[in-house]
Amino acid sequence: MAQVQRTIPLLLPADEDLRQTLAVFQAVEQQLSAPCFNGGQPLSAVRLHRACYQQVKGQLNAQMTCTAIRLVAAAYQSAQSNRRPPQRPFQFRRRRALFLIGPRGRDASLRPDGTLSLWTVAGRKPLPYQVPAAFQQRLAQAKTIDSLTVLERGGQLIGRLTITLEVPDPPAACPETEAVVGIDLNETNALVAVDGEERVLFVSGKAVKVRNRRTAKTRARLQRKLAARKAQHRDTRSVRRVLKRLGRRQRHRTQTFAQTVAKRLGEWAPPQAVLVFERLQLPPPQQEQIRGRALRRRLALWQRGLIRRWTEQQAQERGLRVGEVNPAYTSQTCSRCGQRGTRRRHRFTCPHCGFQEHADINAARNIRTRARSTVLRGSGLLSTSPEARAAEAAGKPLA
Ligand SMILES: [Zn+2]
Repeated sequence: MAQVQRTIPLLLPADEDLRQTLAVFQAVEQQLSAPCFNGGQPLSAVRLHRACYQQVKGQLNAQMTCTAIRLVAAAYQSAQSNRRPPQRPFQFRRRRALFLIGPRGRDASLRPDGTLSLWTVAGRKPLPYQVPAAFQQRLAQAKTIDSLTVLERGGQLIGRLTITLEVPDPPAACPETEAVVGIDLNETNALVAVDGEERVLFVSGKAVKVRNRRTAKTRARLQRKLAARKAQHRDTRSVRRVLKRLGRRQRHRTQTFAQTVAKRLGEWAPPQAVLVFERLQLPPPQQEQIRGRALRRRLALWQRGLIRRWTEQQAQERGLRVGEVNPAYTSQTCSRCGQRGTRRRHRFTCPHCGFQEHADINAARNIRTRARSTVLRGSGLLSTSPEARAAEAAGKPLA
């Protein structure tokens, strides 16, 4: 068995002592930020602890003080490892606090009576909490409960519980070729998958596409209105607010859709499967104002990225693997004879062997074939740890 960590949302009451605790936690992080920055030579957690513990102690309990030190040092570390060395001390503006739970600490605990007991600046306090119905089963499966992060957003307190789950081990690095599933992602047919026994999974993306188009039209209209108001030096707040809400709704819609698609794929996939995607093409360079087609393309690309990410989560939980292949010509190649064919809308036709097939199924089959040959050659392509992908993107050979 392998272990993975997942987070579960918790609904918390708007407790004033808890809110105050988040404010103090944020203040401690802010106090630590400049010393940790250390004039551009960020300190490690250990060195930051040595340098600052005495100055910041006493505001939180000892364990949470250590947690704040670790989080601040980690923020600088991750900026450095993303090759974006900080130019000035970070501002810790978000009110949040991290409480360790169970074997990791006693800042908080979930009690059998259904309350959450946690440390606050006003002492230990029991608070009622709720787990949304969709997450209750997952919480019951938790092997350990590790920590609780509480954030303040729009005046509300939001809890995120981190738990550890036990999951089946993924299959071997060089699986049977029958286990390879080819997956093609598109806009109209959001996902088309073909497995080793020629079973096909079709997930339509039409409903989301139609709604996204509608949102895009509304947004274009609002943007014209915004420009007009600006030109007349009139108040633009209400228009901006509506635009923001539209964007939020669209992001939420796409997230939910990607999760659903990934879940269906996970349920459909044969046991021990290797789910193979095309490598995503890098997004076009960022522009100041992207509209129309460019915007739609980026949105579609983002949706594909999300489906990938959620599939990786599903795969972890179900003991499957995820891989990717070079995307060149997967939609123009004939999956029967391997020569170039033509694609007209959803129809693929091969002039060499007369083969005809739904274009996305043809593409998914090509992805599957390509993955099989890389698996057989034993190249390291079927590896999807973030490090491996980063190394690949940077053009470095895989270890
Ligand atoms: Zn052909």
